[in-house]
Amino acid sequence: MKYLFGPVYSRRLGHSLGIDLLPPKICSLNCVYCEVGPTTDLTCDRKEYVPTEEILKEIDQVLARGAAERHIDVFTLTAMGEPTLHTGLGEIIAYLKKKTDKPVAVLTNGTLFFDPKVRAELSAADIVIPSLDAARQESFDRVNQPAAAVNLEQVIEGLALFSREFRGEVWLEILLVRDMNDSLADLVALQQAVRRIHPARIQLNTVARPPMDGRARPVTREVMEQAATMLADGYDGRVEILVDFQAIEKKEIGQGKQLQATLVEDIAALLQRRPCPIEEIDKALHVQDLEMTRACVQMLVVAGRIEKKVYNDKEFYQQITV
Ligand code: SF4
Repeated sequence: MKYLFGPVYSRRLGHSLGIDLLPPKICSLNCVYCEVGPTTDLTCDRKEYVPTEEILKEIDQVLARGAAERHIDVFTLTAMGEPTLHTGLGEIIAYLKKKTDKPVAVLTNGTLFFDPKVRAELSAADIVIPSLDAARQESFDRVNQPAAAVNLEQVIEGLALFSREFRGEVWLEILLVRDMNDSLADLVALQQAVRRIHPARIQLNTVARPPMDGRARPVTREVMEQAATMLADGYDGRVEILVDFQAIEKKEIGQGKQLQATLVEDIAALLQRRPCPIEEIDKALHVQDLEMTRACVQMLVVAGRIEKKVYNDKEFYQQITV
């Protein structure tokens, strides 16, 4: 399938069938921690970037396999960029709600929520997970590197409006990057923004996978706990820390095995989406170590999880489909 992938298991959503609304990489932000790579089209223009009709056809194919649907807890609209830029968003959510009783979640950077049309299109979803990493302009610019048309005050107001109007749940994700948006002033500004937005949950995260920009480093466990305490003050929703600090700490002290195991799973997830040659895997996951990438690919081949295919004289690796 070109637009649907998974189901993949995630701690917060369970078995999620992903629907990718945009190809890499069209986004209104260019976050330093982005795992997809640099934004090539930095824009706030909404368009039908890929045909809605084709996405709906793939949804029909999945739903036709009734057995497969039983292993899906949630349909998640996402993108290798910002999904609300796709003008078919509302139609796709409405279609899923008509065809299935599974919940629909949307992962978004929240920058377009000031647009009433975007809020209306999202209104039929069950869970919307926007992000807001900084509420101070300088930190927002540093971490999220927004398109010129993105206005931080408008973003926060859009999130607050949506949160008030929406009948489902808003889970606000905040990703903290060391020395970029984790100062006391940043946390105070975020605290004020969160009080305006009043999401059902706040989910705190940090850089846990190889980022686009090597300067993006995870915050410490102490900073994360301080942020959680500050954000919980005067807020009656749930504050959750999504990060597995043990894994990060193991990585930081250079435990190669842990790194390799993570990389193996990242490669498997990437190949679930599309076949890739070794060089592309190495680049997409920012490994910059062809030998390491090759060794991890070989582990997946030996485990019978992926296979090598030659196409136009070029070697690709792809997931084995049963
Ligand atoms: S909003 Fe998401 S896709 Fe866009 S740059 Fe940031 S992390 Fe990447």
